[in-house]
Amino acid sequence: MTKAKIGLEIHGYINTNEKLFCTCKAEHGAKISKPNTNICPICTAQPGAKPMLPNSEAIKKIIQIALILGCKVNKKLTWQRKHYDWPDLPKGYQNTISGTYAIPVGINGKFQSIGITEVHLEEDPAAWNPKTGEIDYNRSGSPLVEIVTEPDFKSSEEVIEWLKQLILTLSYIKAIDKNAGIKADVNISISGGKRVEIKNINSLKNIQKAIEYEIQRQKREKPKIQETRMFDEKKEITIKMRTKEQAEDYRFISEPDLPVIKIEKQRIEKIKSSLPESPHIKLKRLIKKHRIEKKHAEILTKKLDIVEFFEQVIEKVNPKLAVPWTTIELLSVLNYNKKELEEVDIKPEHFIELLKLIENKTLTELKAQEILRQFIPKSFSPKTHAKKHKKISEKSEIEKIVKQVIKQNPQAIEDYKSGKQEALNFLIGQVMRASNKRADYKTTKEILIKILH
Ligand code: ADP
Ligand code: MG
Ligand code: ZN
Repeated sequence: MTKAKIGLEIHGYINTNEKLFCTCKAEHGAKISKPNTNICPICTAQPGAKPMLPNSEAIKKIIQIALILGCKVNKKLTWQRKHYDWPDLPKGYQNTISGTYAIPVGINGKFQSIGITEVHLEEDPAAWNPKTGEIDYNRSGSPLVEIVTEPDFKSSEEVIEWLKQLILTLSYIKAIDKNAGIKADVNISISGGKRVEIKNINSLKNIQKAIEYEIQRQKREKPKIQETRMFDEKKEITIKMRTKEQAEDYRFISEPDLPVIKIEKQRIEKIKSSLPESPHIKLKRLIKKHRIEKKHAEILTKKLDIVEFFEQVIEKVNPKLAVPWTTIELLSVLNYNKKELEEVDIKPEHFIELLKLIENKTLTELKAQEILRQFIPKSFSPKTHAKKHKKISEKSEIEKIVKQVIKQNPQAIEDYKSGKQEALNFLIGQVMRASNKRADYKTTKEILIKILH
């Protein structure tokens, strides 16, 4: 079998409020603003405009990314000018911490057994529409992260699984804008052949298709020179752009308008100690230590706010009860309200109380669901609530309600006596309503039938 070697260069938007060298709003992904509304002389490169000092939020996030990927963080970073001529880049160069003379933010990392060559920071150019000639500067100057891996992958499946884990892990530190997605350059070679780079593929699905196509193509054509190709989404094939000999010369020089960034050891240590645990470590613990099924553990670890909440709940409540009430009940209530857990104020201690009231049979599950729905936007102690919503099992008490319901529904009684079975269900429903969902179902049914006969 022919062995493939695959390495990635991954680009994503760093989650910041402002752009990298000006205070314009950083917006990407789902375009919200009209073109050219978040702009200023700096990010449109007006003559004489100088960059402001780099956005400290972006610097912090890029260090977080480097650390969570196991990289060594360099303490002195120099901005470079990477030159090229294209309508989306009026300055004629892009500011980046990469290139021939640059020291990347992070180096020599490892993430889920794949080597991380380097992690660096750069600014996004504008968006150019070649059909209309229009340029939108809204994204110009937004901070981007580039993650370069070693050629450690062997198959498309391995790449996709790893990228999913990477995106999930970065979402734990809210480091990249997940709505904007990621883009990747994919480098592929097979044994005995030269390396081919496929530029700028924009979704996991396309990355997978491009790799699969390219491995087959290389097996047939055995590339003898290094070249750059692109992926045609419609035809699902890769197309040659240029050979490596025709590679662009970016004429890198150090940026004279920006100072060297010095990162103190203490700052790195502080960021390191505040990093959350990675999702795959949490997943392992939920399965091994708490004996939670893998499929449930995967749902729980999809979001940091949910899994951290759950971890607090199972300190007090049996996971057997906590799992369905978190993965089904809580998630569906949040979903219905189109809210993330972190956007509402649900206290774990209130959720724990609610589950205890179900456990000791004070509340019917139906009633507990109703209370959970009322936890949005803010939870409360369900104990006081539970008193007036306590399950009724007392026969005499249910009988009273049944008699009242019978009195109020003569038509349904007649229907029942003339043989309509649905009338009984209707009457049970009326008892539930009159008792505010507290009457025990089985007892209610028995009493109704007894009285009606
Ligand atoms: P360039 O500057 O041309 O992009 P780099 O040396 O920076 O080249 O390498 C970029 C990517 O190429 C990295 O992701 C690396 O893993 C990958 N790569 C290097 N050698 C190989 C190879 N033999 N097969 C596949 N990918 C490779
Ligand atoms: Mg490259
Ligand atoms: Zn600006």
